[in-house]
Amino acid sequence: MHIVFAASECVPFAKTGGLADVVGALPREVAKLGHDVTVYLPLYARVRPFLEGEPKYAARSITIPFRYYNRFIGIVDGGKRDGVQFYFVDCPELFDRPELYGPAGGEYSDNAERFGLFCRAVLEAAKLLEVPEVFHVHDWQAALIPVYLRTVYAADPVFHGTAVMLTIHNAAYQGKFPPQTTEQLLFPWDIFTMDRMEQYDRFNFLKGGIVFSDMLTTVSRRYAEEIQTSEFGEQLEGVLRNRSADLCGILNGVDYARWDPSVDKNLAAHYTPGNLAGKKTCRADLLHAFGLESIEDATPVIGIVSRFATQKGFDILSRIADDLVRRDVAVTVLGSGEPIYENFFREWAFRHPDKVAVRIGYDEALSHKIEAGADVFLMPSRYEPCGLNQIYSLKYGTVPIVRATGGLDDTIEEWDAGKQTGTGFKFYGYDPQALLTEIDQALKVFEDKAAWERLMRNGMAQNYDWAEPAREYVKAYEEAARRRA
Ligand code: ADP
Repeated sequence: MHIVFAASECVPFAKTGGLADVVGALPREVAKLGHDVTVYLPLYARVRPFLEGEPKYAARSITIPFRYYNRFIGIVDGGKRDGVQFYFVDCPELFDRPELYGPAGGEYSDNAERFGLFCRAVLEAAKLLEVPEVFHVHDWQAALIPVYLRTVYAADPVFHGTAVMLTIHNAAYQGKFPPQTTEQLLFPWDIFTMDRMEQYDRFNFLKGGIVFSDMLTTVSRRYAEEIQTSEFGEQLEGVLRNRSADLCGILNGVDYARWDPSVDKNLAAHYTPGNLAGKKTCRADLLHAFGLESIEDATPVIGIVSRFATQKGFDILSRIADDLVRRDVAVTVLGSGEPIYENFFREWAFRHPDKVAVRIGYDEALSHKIEAGADVFLMPSRYEPCGLNQIYSLKYGTVPIVRATGGLDDTIEEWDAGKQTGTGFKFYGYDPQALLTEIDQALKVFEDKAAWERLMRNGMAQNYDWAEPAREYVKAYEEAARRRA
């Protein structure tokens, strides 16, 4: 089969979150199973350094029409990497900017045009280069591909047999724009209805993707159920329930070539379940990086690496922050995002410089150092479609404390002292006290070195590589193609 991925992020080229990790790994795994895989990405400013020498154009000038003008885009051939063909959509006036989506967590005002153009460009490029059996599109930024395919391009014979599958990595990000977007992107007005693109008088990219795709997936089984409820559906629960027969959850895998403490190049030392000595060195290295060298061996170090968004649960953490630092703990935090949370963390560190240290920003190497050097990894998310950091933490012997939601619930098994089973700690209610009680539980187990090492090793023995999820995706592609036929 030939599968075309279209997405707005992919490691190593452009990343703001877990989507990039998935699009960086899944195509390669699908290719390993014997399929042809092509990935399309926008040619952002930060992608340019990856192009060696002069860009090589697979197509020089493709016309993308808008209501009152045309834009002319190129398709840059990124070559093959690990058996996967990369193409970049070159439209400097829309993509040659410092950020992917907007300055400091905000949005560029022309994002509808940017990602509308991206979707149409992928279809036009596929017509020129190779039409796949399946388009696998990711999140709202690529969600107009199914909409174009089944409306504007519905009569195009080259796409008659082509199936399309949408993966929802986070239902809260939908791409909502004014109604006029319909005609700006040259859609017929009859798609701007409640059962198609319209959602509370907005043109909703993600909703269109949900309505027009042959198959839908999301990134954990639990989240696939959750988004069909009003608590997690972000007002799309109705349309998702309508498609529930076509919706399934496939848990993300992890790229252990990048996230394994026995080979991770970002670490001060390597370690394995059989020899944990290197983890001590990593811990000392982490404390040094954060200026917390005075922390004693017996003091557990809590790590956080996250986008600072409301989703991530830092409002409940802020309400127990003072209580928490009365315990014997140290906290190291890396992240950036909404100012309210950046300020909370800054202020927390300012008030407790001997125990809490924070780095505001995006730092790939430091994120690995926290995974390896911390004793405990904290993810108190309000909701979490899959979550990758808790899965990385398992491999690094860094015990996760998570809220039981979405992929966090699917991947972390509660520690049972009697049976010596489990991989971490879970709390249920979205409530500051429940979080603090669970942290206390973990701190108590930490005092028992034998139990803690068992807990670490239980986590390190888990395998979340991409082999199984890739097979599930291939089954889903085959199913989508069958339905199309
Ligand atoms: P989400 O996609 O909601 O941000 P995930 O847990 O699925 O959450 O993926 C987050 C990814 O982004 C992880 O690989 C994590 O290490 C990375 N990440 C998040 N914030 C930062 C940061 N400030 N610096 C480096 N990596 C980060």
